[in-house]
Amino acid sequence: MTDCDFLLVGHGLAGALLADCLRAHGQRVLVYDQPNPHSASNVAAGLMNPVAGKRFALTWRAAELLPAAAAAYRALNERFGQLFFVETPIFKAFGSGQEQQQMLARRAENVWGAFVKAITADDPALPGVTAPLGGAWLQHGGHVAVAALLAALAKEHQAADRLRLEPFDWAALTVQPDGRLRYAHAVLARYVVCCEGAAAKQNPYFNWLPLTPNQGEVLDVDCPGLSQAQVLNRAAYVVPVGEGRFRVGATYRWPPFAEGITNEALTELSGRLAGLTPLPFTVRGQRAGIRPAVYDRRPLLGRHPAHPWLSLCGGYGSKGVMLAPLLSEMLAQHLLHNAPLWPEADLARCVAKFYRP
Ligand SMILES: Cc1cc2nc3c(=O)[nH]c(=O)nc-3n(C[C@H](O)[C@H](O)[C@H](O)COP(=O)(O)OP(=O)(O)OC[C@H]3O[C@@H](n4cnc5c(N)ncnc54)[C@H](O)[C@@H]3O)c2cc1C
Repeated sequence: MTDCDFLLVGHGLAGALLADCLRAHGQRVLVYDQPNPHSASNVAAGLMNPVAGKRFALTWRAAELLPAAAAAYRALNERFGQLFFVETPIFKAFGSGQEQQQMLARRAENVWGAFVKAITADDPALPGVTAPLGGAWLQHGGHVAVAALLAALAKEHQAADRLRLEPFDWAALTVQPDGRLRYAHAVLARYVVCCEGAAAKQNPYFNWLPLTPNQGEVLDVDCPGLSQAQVLNRAAYVVPVGEGRFRVGATYRWPPFAEGITNEALTELSGRLAGLTPLPFTVRGQRAGIRPAVYDRRPLLGRHPAHPWLSLCGGYGSKGVMLAPLLSEMLAQHLLHNAPLWPEADLARCVAKFYRP
């Protein structure tokens, strides 16, 4: 029988980084994870983009989340001696003259703080890039090789017997008379945290939460001659992953959606890439995953309203890379010391509206 403080279910970005934070606080952690090469974390393009969408809006709490994420990923780079996180400029090309004029007009308002380094109405003449109307140069963003990072963390856990690669059966979890938790005949724990990503929608304790699975696809393409010096963004993002290869994403589909990869996404993403470069490219791979999206586009963190031994860490939607480092630490502080969560991220906001005991 393994005795631990925290039993975590799920080793995607949410579970992996929370496990790391809890361990840094001296907690004994055990993680169950059903390996899934198509999990959101394993297919993610890994982009951290402070200014998103057609409206060039600053993403939620970017000023707090992004520096914390960059620092955490840099520390992981150093710990493993691998370059998971690469800080990269992002060039967000204007899609129309109207968009260009709006952005130039908003420049004086300085709504983006230091995240927008420069706005240009001229073609920046980047090798292989079609951007006749110019665009905005973003800084302090970058990209993370999420699957490689999770594999490194999993290897470390496995070596120390802290990770079990098997499905967790919630029906086998019981509360003992002394308040401790028992899982099957295998584990005793003080607390359990659900980090199941979109699968939390089927969790018997959390199926009331307003999580909506959102299917997304990305392409891996070779495009010789296209500049690797920056991430490109217009309708699609094009993330350089080295050696002439790029990850191009992503599509967004709400239920009902097809399982796995689709020709529709291949056509859509290829078309968007062709709008950003006149160069020929070859599609080398296509992946699909399911994002854990939330109706108000904010994460879901915190304790179950009726079971204080049980918590959830998730709802990261399309922004897990930027959210996970700071929010893991925030949740760890909350669980260990009752430190407050950001109200917008606290699942308590959903209780009155959705929870029916
Ligand atoms: C196509 C695509 C592109 C994306 N690109 C980006 C991007 O560029 N930048 C960004 O920030 N975000 C991106 N995202 C979103 C990002 O991937 C998610 O926000 C994040 O990975 C969610 O992490 P998670 O740990 O909550 O869930 P997941 O990655 O889904 O991990 C959950 C884990 O829990 C396991 N699990 C579930 N139930 C059980 C159980 N009962 N027992 C055992 N194990 C279980 C699963 O097998 C899985 O390993 C993208 C997503 C997709 C689909």
